[in-house]
Amino acid sequence: MLDFEIGRRRLLGGALTLGAATVLLPKAALAALPERRIAFRNIHTSETFDARFFGASGWDEQGLAELNHGLRDWRNNATTSMDPQLMLLLSQIRDKLGVAPQAKIDLISGYRSPQTNSALRERGGEHTGVASKSQHMLGKATDIRMPGVALDQLHMAALSMQGGGVGYYPKDGFVHVDTGRVRRWG
Ligand SMILES: [Zn+2]
Repeated sequence: MLDFEIGRRRLLGGALTLGAATVLLPKAALAALPERRIAFRNIHTSETFDARFFGASGWDEQGLAELNHGLRDWRNNATTSMDPQLMLLLSQIRDKLGVAPQAKIDLISGYRSPQTNSALRERGGEHTGVASKSQHMLGKATDIRMPGVALDQLHMAALSMQGGGVGYYPKDGFVHVDTGRVRRWG
């Protein structure tokens, strides 16, 4: 009966915002807005990109493809399928901080190819403690900062979401956010 009722409301209205029905929706649809967007600026290349990744009918494959391209390994242009949940998590952190959806998140690192990851490990540079099985290599991590937002505020907002791993790199000026196991370091 309840299922039927919800199905009917979905057919009639699309957006479900009423009472208990909300909790039955997939996590992605819990967002207040029917549409989710995210925008970035790659700090190494100054490339900017902005895509809608979720809409009334679910994940937006074209938008996700644009994000896969934008979040590619900028060192060798290798791409992967980024985890859509990561896009959702980053947009939720942004919203929590009161930052507008069109504001560009500074991207320090997105996808990392195996070649780049091993080069960084050997050099011991940029990302202290680069793991052999980095979430960056799985398309599940970004290193970011948000213009106009203090880094510790971004850090606290990321931790509060409990959406995965959060690493704090104040000396390097970024926060690592991934959709792996919930954990923290730094
Ligand atoms: Zn990272």
